[in-house]
This record gives sequence, C-alpha cells and structure tokens, in this order.
Amino acid sequence: MDCIFCKIIDGSIPSKKVYEDEAVYAFHDINPLAPVHVLVIPKMHIDSMDKVSADNAEYVKKVFLAIPKIAEELGLKNGYRLISNCGEDGCQSVKHLHFHILGGKKLEEKLVSRFGLKCFVPFHQD
Ligand SMILES: [Zn+2]
Ligand SMILES: [Zn+2]
Repeated sequence: MDCIFCKIIDGSIPSKKVYEDEAVYAFHDINPLAPVHVLVIPKMHIDSMDKVSADNAEYVKKVFLAIPKIAEELGLKNGYRLISNCGEDGCQSVKHLHFHILGGKKLEEKLVSRFGLKCFVPFHQD
C-alpha cells in the first residue's frame, strides 16, 4: 500500500518528530493551521476512525494515552483541540487514521466560522 503516513513512520519520508513509542508516532504538520499543529498516528495502518475495531483497539488506546503526554511536551497547558476527519464527508485527505492536535492560542469556537461551508482540510504531507 502506498501510504504516506506509513512512509513517515518507517522514515522513508522525513518528518519533524514530536513523540514516538512502540505504537504511536507524532510529528509537526508541514502547513500548520495553528501555532501548534501536530499529527498523532498509530503505527499500525488503520484506514480511518470508521475502521477502529476490537482487533486494533489496543493501538487506538495507545494513541489516546499518548495524546496528553504529547500535549504536555508541546506546552499546551491551556488546552487544545483534537480532530480526526473520517471518510469522504469528513474530508479525510490521508487514509491512515490520524488525530490533529491544534493549539498554542485560543482557537475559534466553531470550525465552520473559520472554514466556511468547506470541510476542514488540513494541508499535511500529501
Ligand atoms: Zn498507513
Ligand atoms: Zn488530516
């Protein structure tokens, strides 16, 4: 499979790593939409939130356990936003489950007020 995030995990595509453990990898988005914009991904390839199941839940659990640690390392003491786009209607651009951590400033209350009627499509490495 030609998955850009799997290539980031195996190092064949470079990234600015923020965090790594046996199940989780996190790196800075190349086109940040906030002062802090980090992507957190499971090392196991899972297509999207829709494909989370009992078989891969252990990996997903480790992603969620890592997120508060990553947020602390990033200095997000005052909070942050966590986003996962899923599928066509969610405007998922890379088909490897990932979570956007956005923070470093007070974000706008509603995504639609900033992004209009368009989907929230972050510009990561694709
Ligand atoms: Zn992948
Ligand atoms: Zn994304």
